[in-house]
Amino acid sequence: MPRILTDYTYFPRRVSANDQRGTARDLATRLETRNLKPETRIGYGWDSHEFKRGIPLKIGGMTLSHPKGLGGHSDGDVLLHALTDALLGAVAAPDIGTLFSPSDPRWKGADSAMFLAEGLKRVNAAGYAVVNMDSTLILAAPKIGPHAAAIRGHVAKLLGIPSDCVGLKAKTPEGMGTDHAAIAHAVVLLQKRARKPAGRQKVKR
Ligand code: MG
Repeated sequence: MPRILTDYTYFPRRVSANDQRGTARDLATRLETRNLKPETRIGYGWDSHEFKRGIPLKIGGMTLSHPKGLGGHSDGDVLLHALTDALLGAVAAPDIGTLFSPSDPRWKGADSAMFLAEGLKRVNAAGYAVVNMDSTLILAAPKIGPHAAAIRGHVAKLLGIPSDCVGLKAKTPEGMGTDHAAIAHAVVLLQKRARKPAGRQKVKR
């Protein structure tokens, strides 16, 4: 049996391939039984919606004044959809389309804040809290600059984090030929929540 030198951090000795598999298995079991989780996790989401006349434009939970809104089965909030997928992806949960099927009449015209709330619920259930998020919107119009502070504030409220932990950039789709649509990219960083402090020890007298 050939002897191989493996990653020093985990296997600080020369072990056989069989030993290595066994040791990796032991490590996984130890992590699982002690409920050890990574301190941080990252999540990424992306979405696009087409502009349509005569419907309200919702971005980041805010209604912006514009002759066209974003079509879709729900309220078409491209930013909240990307952010929801980032939250779900960070804890390896099913994506937004799987949880809230566009063919399900229950989600017709739904407020996308509800999808975000489900993402947060799953983050919380996995033992994590949101540290910060960053996002980029790509759309020809309207200009996002004048609304950016309000959108960041609203998204911060939905996430339960300070608004200086919510990033929002807006770009125009130069040379992309996507003036008829809005695109959103979002990333989130999660941190493992601290365990609840143990209750006061009873002292035997
Ligand atoms: Mg969507």
